[in-house]
Amino acid sequence: MSIVMKPKATKAEVDEVIQKVKSTGLKVDVSSGEYQTVIGIIGDEKKVDFDQIKAMSGVSDAIRIQSAYRLVSRGYIPKDVKVKVGTVSIGGDEPPVYISGPCSIESYEQLYRIAKEVKEAGAHILRGGAFKPRTSVHSFQGLGIEGLKHLKAVSKDLDMPTITEIRSEMDVDTVAKYTDVLQIGARNMFNQDLIEAAAKTGMPIFFKRGFGAQIDEYLSFAERIVAKNNRKIILCERGILPLGGSFKPATRYTLDLNAIPAIRKETPFPIFGDPSHGTGRRDLVLPMARASIAAGAHGVMVEVHDRPQEALSDGPQAVLPDELRQIIKVCDKIYETINQSESA
Ligand code: PEP
Ligand code: MN
Repeated sequence: MSIVMKPKATKAEVDEVIQKVKSTGLKVDVSSGEYQTVIGIIGDEKKVDFDQIKAMSGVSDAIRIQSAYRLVSRGYIPKDVKVKVGTVSIGGDEPPVYISGPCSIESYEQLYRIAKEVKEAGAHILRGGAFKPRTSVHSFQGLGIEGLKHLKAVSKDLDMPTITEIRSEMDVDTVAKYTDVLQIGARNMFNQDLIEAAAKTGMPIFFKRGFGAQIDEYLSFAERIVAKNNRKIILCERGILPLGGSFKPATRYTLDLNAIPAIRKETPFPIFGDPSHGTGRRDLVLPMARASIAAGAHGVMVEVHDRPQEALSDGPQAVLPDELRQIIKVCDKIYETINQSESA
């Protein structure tokens, strides 16, 4: 249920409604807009007497929302949400934001070299994995804390905010000390303990769609972040696996471009495209980055390596720094063209 207060409702009236909801054991998420306050109910809304709430002083309307992702829906937060990372503002009408860097942090020198190049190419946020989710136990698992230390040092040396993946809820407090954004990867999209632990830090969460997740499942798990009072969510379409046994795609995953405008319609939170994991192929990263921005993405995440042949993970999909420069140039142009034609 969403309880919409009258524009002139007093603080005492708002508080009384909140108390009434809380007395049933449910939690609330309060959205105070310019004109009015909307109170969202977290939990089983059947516990609240709809008619009694409607009759309370200062209440304009009470709307039943059955959706499992009501707190992240536009019904609840109509206006685009912008997420701040350092001085970078993401979402809404902001120009595209570029998150770039290597798949894995391999050493301080490797990260510094690549970070310098991606910064010069126009990237805003540096990425690099230290706790890598890998299919095989025999593959490089990431440098762990040592990698996080390199990330923090390079961030300071180059004055660039950072993002890194958090794989276990046991590491949340540690990882949070070393980065500006916590990434929850595709393999952990359904991991509710991890999501809730990450959300509780209050930090921005880069929340990737699972490769087998329907959009409503994806948003239902994003709901858990808002339910922990964290509205700093950045969504990311990173490719799905087509269902069915006999169909053999040309790419590692299939970047679901439909999801970008579909998700924008459902929710006010920013959505990114990830053409690197979405294709798994260096030669397809530029066209699918362009397509992501054309579809309405608020930014793209692109993996870069200056020596892809030596990369310890995801070398085949890493673009060179010069290719990133080109991607950013073209994506900015596409964004400007769309912006101009839509405001004309
Ligand atoms: C990554 O960004 O390095 C990563 C592992 O991504 P995903 O979770 O989308 O596979
Ligand atoms: Mn990767």
